[in-house]
Amino acid sequence: LCGVVALDGPSGTGKTTAARRLATELGAGYLDTGAMYRVATLAVLRAGADPGDPAAVVTVVRRTRIDVATDPDTPRALLDGTDVSAEIRTEEVNRAVSPVSAVPAVRELLVAEQRRVIHETLDTGGGIVVDGRDIGTVVAPDAPLKVFLTASADVRARRRTAQDSAEGRASTFEEAKASVQRRDHLDSTRATSPLRAADDAVLLDTSDLTIDEVTAKLAELADG
Ligand code: C5P
Repeated sequence: LCGVVALDGPSGTGKTTAARRLATELGAGYLDTGAMYRVATLAVLRAGADPGDPAAVVTVVRRTRIDVATDPDTPRALLDGTDVSAEIRTEEVNRAVSPVSAVPAVRELLVAEQRRVIHETLDTGGGIVVDGRDIGTVVAPDAPLKVFLTASADVRARRRTAQDSAEGRASTFEEAKASVQRRDHLDSTRATSPLRAADDAVLLDTSDLTIDEVTAKLAELADG
């Protein structure tokens, strides 16, 4: 694979797990752009700033160093050099990440960094699987393969509950469903780069597919 695979869609579609597995199979890098917005959000919360106050958010994000590792087997996220891979997955961050990522100046900063990482990988002759919400539409509109993953709200909530419990966080199905739906609504209706499929994206409904099947389908698309 020589290029970019753009994977977009809401959470609970199996996107992140399948993206990492695909990257490993292809010997490509993996960029989790959601992790970058999560690190920015954690920085805002730690600074005691209001996630709903765009000016305060921008001030914090401008002075924060956000790094994500691109090895698909160890996808670490760093805030000012410190590993916060676990801290960015809490419900507190889930709640605040949509307003933080709706701030245009935050998106500008992070999209520029995402493009820098992508170009760095391409310059070395490698490929990269990029996971997010606006990869096919904004970050890498020239990507030769764009896939938009979907799944029913119930399936996504069930996957979130399972993931939460695997990672030691408790959540009921109803809580997970409300959280997933709330974030998707905010992400899809924001003014800047709303979550939507690129016109030339392949749509993949993962409701009835296992992670292995999603990965196999992506590998098949990347191959063709
Ligand atoms: O993918 P993940 O669920 O970790 O993303 C967390 C949040 O970050 C999303 O709900 C969305 O608000 C934001 N995001 C974004 N653009 C991206 C990736 C994530 O706005 N490319």
